[in-house]
Amino acid sequence: MFNKKIFSIFIFYILFFVYIFSNLVEVIKINPNIKLDIRYATENNFTKKIVYPSAQCFLQQELVKELDLIQKELENDGLGLKIYDGYRPLSVQKIFWDICPNPNYVANPYNGRGSKHNRGTAVDLTLIDLKTGQELEMPSEFDEFTDRAHRYYSKMTSEVAKKNCKKLEDLMHAHGFTGEKTEWWHYNWKDWEKFAVLDISFNELN
Ligand SMILES: [Zn+2]
Repeated sequence: MFNKKIFSIFIFYILFFVYIFSNLVEVIKINPNIKLDIRYATENNFTKKIVYPSAQCFLQQELVKELDLIQKELENDGLGLKIYDGYRPLSVQKIFWDICPNPNYVANPYNGRGSKHNRGTAVDLTLIDLKTGQELEMPSEFDEFTDRAHRYYSKMTSEVAKKNCKKLEDLMHAHGFTGEKTEWWHYNWKDWEKFAVLDISFNELN
């Protein structure tokens, strides 16, 4: 009886971890047309440090399926997606919080909830022109921790930036994502609570 119980618990955990692992997929394996600019694999980010060992973007499969559809829709207009960040291990979130302990911009990794990036259920992205590869004008730079980065910043002067930001927002909303008020580039998946906070490294995922 006792052994049976232990065995059931063991099987439950195995299935649980298999479920989590099998759902984090690399975006470009599903749609290689989606461009990447994984800033945390370079020094060109707010930490000024390389915090990812490789320039890869992993996300839960449900999100990747929708991003694939969005990319295909955008291509009809000569546009495409460029991703800055996707799944982020919890240990990296701790590095961010140590540098910027401001919950408006960085989620607290010590409160048990972490960032939605830590679950593979948030993505940072922008729009690009397919022909030139250039980013479309947006309200601010990526990871600019100022009011200019706020999605509905009342002093946003560029009509072009406003229009581009809205285009991205409308598409993301139509595909099950919601935006973050303080960061125009950040989108959360509607069912983020279904997924656990993870601390699996990129090397382990490869
Ligand atoms: Zn983000």
